[in-house]
Amino acid sequence: MNQVRITGNERDDLRKALLSCRLCPRQCGVNRAAGEKGICGLDDGIILARALPHHGEEPPISGTRGAGTLFLSSCNLRCRFCQNHQISHGVHGKTLTPLELARHILALENQGCHNIEAVTPTPQLPQLIDSLQLAWDAGLTLPFVYNCGGYENPGIIRMLDGLVDIYLPDFKYGNEENAHEWSGVRDYPRFALESIREMMNQVGPDLELDDGGIATRGMIIRHLILPGHIENSIQVLSLIRDHLSRGIPLSLMSQYTPSPAMKDHPSLGRRVTREEYENVVNRALDMRFEQLFVQEVDDRNLCPDFSAEAPFQWTQEGPP
Ligand code: SF4
Repeated sequence: MNQVRITGNERDDLRKALLSCRLCPRQCGVNRAAGEKGICGLDDGIILARALPHHGEEPPISGTRGAGTLFLSSCNLRCRFCQNHQISHGVHGKTLTPLELARHILALENQGCHNIEAVTPTPQLPQLIDSLQLAWDAGLTLPFVYNCGGYENPGIIRMLDGLVDIYLPDFKYGNEENAHEWSGVRDYPRFALESIREMMNQVGPDLELDDGGIATRGMIIRHLILPGHIENSIQVLSLIRDHLSRGIPLSLMSQYTPSPAMKDHPSLGRRVTREEYENVVNRALDMRFEQLFVQEVDDRNLCPDFSAEAPFQWTQEGPP
């Protein structure tokens, strides 16, 4: 069954954002169609780092057969501590045509994945939508999952109404100082709030599941707890409670692992402790968040290795 989720004119409007790039709040203003590059370092081509069934997401997203995950190259946020630094801190991967990316998408569907999940879609959004439309034309029916860093242009998110089934935004920072220190963007909390509010208006606040417990529509906000930065986590919780909804499912992630660039850092050079993690979970419970996804705390190295055949080796052993 073919699906038309976006008209040709709407796709043209999205593509126009590349001519003086405003796809994210960095608003670089470069003409990517003419080969100019902004902070993300991307022109108007498609660069895919990896496509694979991913078993490390929240259970309703990964299910039993995996999320059909497209790891798109580069990032508009580039946090200094990024767990995916191998593919996010530069432009690494294969340059594809829209048709080639559509074939990867359809291959993931053929492998039995529960959805098509684009990781860091923001800087390659118009190109990605072109590929998705080709896949929809060819009969793709899986939910489309938008997994982003939360530093989004709310006007662009508004253009995705009807296109995205499930949003998985990060909400990384609850204060301007940490946002500036780790990602160089003081205005992160404001843009995260505005863009996540738009996502909630489109699909939220709940997560709809099928009979097998697999997500079909809705949203989960993810927050990566940083060691030594518990106050930041509590500020994030307060912002969501006060300005969004306690009904939005919240995934509190303990998996922070220092990348090589961070390993000697006084606070970010270690994983979070059980005490730090439980402190944040308890605050979320005190604030009466209605649905929490929680993780174990351990001392494994949970940075994926994208040069390996199985970048998320530990997911073979079960989720962190
Ligand atoms: S997507 Fe890239 S070029 Fe466009 S505004 Fe964001 S960082 Fe700049």
